[in-house]
Amino acid sequence: MNLKRKFVIHLFISRSSLDTYHTVVGKNLLEGLSHWRGFPYLHVSNHLLMRYTSQAIEVLVEEFAKLPGIGKKTAQRLALHILREKTEDVERFAKALLDAKEKVVYCVECQNMTDNTANPCIICTSPKRNRALVCVVESPSDVIAFEKTNQYSGLYHVLHGVISPLDGVGPDDLKIKELLARLSGEKGQHIKEVILALNPTVEGETTVLYLTRLLKPLGLKVSRIARGIPIGSELEYTDEATLTRALEGRAEV
Ligand code: ZN
Repeated sequence: MNLKRKFVIHLFISRSSLDTYHTVVGKNLLEGLSHWRGFPYLHVSNHLLMRYTSQAIEVLVEEFAKLPGIGKKTAQRLALHILREKTEDVERFAKALLDAKEKVVYCVECQNMTDNTANPCIICTSPKRNRALVCVVESPSDVIAFEKTNQYSGLYHVLHGVISPLDGVGPDDLKIKELLARLSGEKGQHIKEVILALNPTVEGETTVLYLTRLLKPLGLKVSRIARGIPIGSELEYTDEATLTRALEGRAEV
């Protein structure tokens, strides 16, 4: 077997590794090969330069794949779905994306997302909400989770992240300054309790400690949500850390 054939076979065997053929190195290598006189699989090498038969599809798939939780396969399915849709439906979808980007802003009070025509947001302006309580959460999706319970009637404050030195996120990158300004402002006089409802991760715990140190001296009640055994789970399968927290956070019945 001559050298060229050996190389081509190797190329096919390691095709999965050629998933990186969008990289300059991969592209240059294949382009180089296509100029190799007598290269026996010339037409295949051109095919390998691009995964799809259309540059536009390639770009669309790449864009979908950037979204959180979307892998290459799902991105491809979404792109092909878009192409099967009617033009007016795709236009509506594209407009919704741009509209959301253009019209959605942070609420001046709670920092949750709201329309620029309703700022402060509907929760902050609702007369039905308990203005003595502020629940501090990591992200807008946590607000949605609490609202779904229908059990909490206080206000919120969204930090938009947690302190994470490894990811280069410090207190100044979060909406902590805004929380302090809110508590010391005129409307902050009604606030009696701040509930820290952050995720039980190392970063969440760090942020809870940091906020507790900042908020305690303000003379407010600072509490945190309880951690424990999820409903429907069994004690024997619960990890030690969760069981310990559940014991610590036990309540009188
Ligand atoms: Zn708000």
